[in-house]
Amino acid sequence: MDSSTHLLAADGKIFGMTWDGFMTVIGWTGNGVFFSRFLVQWHATEKRKQVTIPALFWWLSLVGTLLLLCYAIHLDRGWVFIFAYAFSWIPYTRNLVIHYRHKNAEKTCAGCGERSSPKANYCPNCGEKLAVARP
Ligand SMILES: [Zn+2]
Repeated sequence: MDSSTHLLAADGKIFGMTWDGFMTVIGWTGNGVFFSRFLVQWHATEKRKQVTIPALFWWLSLVGTLLLLCYAIHLDRGWVFIFAYAFSWIPYTRNLVIHYRHKNAEKTCAGCGERSSPKANYCPNCGEKLAVARP
């Protein structure tokens, strides 16, 4: 038995904790990750001085929700919490897909290298005409 096997399975414990203790850590970690998204969004909004939702917000939402869903499934008769987290990963994942599609479709200015919205015709940084996006 190597040290990693010892950490995972010795005496039926996970990292030295009982299953309930381990799942409590998962639940609190999920709470911490889920809450931290508000700090990320608030910081991004204050930095840009306009309401902003960065991709990290959706990643934290997704990871926090999945951890909380694991914890809820662990609870005996935790159907209220299971239902609360069972479907919320769908819009988080969809927002990430849309975000990365938009990011990949951005135009790069040949003049200065600034990245612009796919719908932009001129670079907002230097005014150079941007190439027409290929479908
Ligand atoms: Zn430019």
